[in-house]
Amino acid sequence: MEMLDDLDLGRRQRILIVEDVKLNAQILVNALKDTYDLRVAYNGVQALAMVKEEMPDLILLDIIMPEMDGYEVCARLQADPNTRDIPILFLTALEGDQNEAYGLELGAMDYIRKPFNLPIVKAKIRNHLELKRYKDILKRDSRIDGLTRIPNRRRFDEAYAEEREGARRNQTPLAVLIIDLDRFKLYNDTYGHLQGDDVLKLVAITLYHSVHRPGDLVARWGGEEFAVLLPDTDREGARHVAERLRTAVTDLEILHEASPVAAVLTVSIGVAAAKVEDPASYDLLLQWADEAVYRAKAEGRNRVVAYGD
Ligand code: GH3
Ligand code: MG
Ligand code: MG
Ligand code: MG
Repeated sequence: MEMLDDLDLGRRQRILIVEDVKLNAQILVNALKDTYDLRVAYNGVQALAMVKEEMPDLILLDIIMPEMDGYEVCARLQADPNTRDIPILFLTALEGDQNEAYGLELGAMDYIRKPFNLPIVKAKIRNHLELKRYKDILKRDSRIDGLTRIPNRRRFDEAYAEEREGARRNQTPLAVLIIDLDRFKLYNDTYGHLQGDDVLKLVAITLYHSVHRPGDLVARWGGEEFAVLLPDTDREGARHVAERLRTAVTDLEILHEASPVAAVLTVSIGVAAAKVEDPASYDLLLQWADEAVYRAKAEGRNRVVAYGD
């Protein structure tokens, strides 16, 4: 399940110091250890391994090092979408504007020459980390639905695009559900829009906690509709999850007196699963799920319909 809280924005920010001369590394550690959570790597290879294991918020990167130099480390981190946004500050004894220009062109945020002045290094680090924190907040908020605080459509689209390519290539299953609240306009008309909002929040969090596998994603699709992405799940598996979600909502026993469907709030769910032998089918899941939910409505609501049934 996708976690919303993996970005703990209140924690101490983590800096990775990459420096082959132990004495230099020690000077930096002493200057920064009271303010930041520090890690130290003594060469480029070790640095890349450490970044993979535990994402730093900023990297202080020496250039001249044995095995792999700082330029190479920077280029590799910039080439990977997962690490591209980590600010890199080069710390180097190399002279000359050409070297500095080259480092910045590779994507580094800043370039500090040795011997360095510690107050300047500290101030630059603080400024870059503040910027990093703002960017993290923006990135998180732009992918979360404002009302329900679960992932939004944009987050869903990103996840679907990622999962789709991998699944298509490996011919592994992939499924999508679209969940639509039944007669929800009537709910608002009966109990008011504000109470409708509370119901949407409750349903969202219930759905969100009702899927369990890594990669499963529940998002607010818009209005009173939700979309669920289920990697590695075939049609029957997806039908099973959908039935569980449908029951989870009715089990909330949210009174909906005006509903012609039931005494409590219900949902209709459309299921679509890729046909592993047909690469084009991976692109059609939203369209198919939408057609299926339309049929679930037509057949009486409060039910699960899979595309192709
Ligand atoms: P159906 O069973 O056919 O899906 O009926 P429905 O009333 O749910 O569908 P319709 O598309 O006619 O209306 C959807 C309603 O969902 C309209 C609006 O009142 C409600 N809705 C959409 N977004 C929100 C929201 O953010 N808050 C609240 N309270 N209601 C919303
Ligand atoms: Mg060095
Ligand atoms: Mg709708
Ligand atoms: Mg509806």
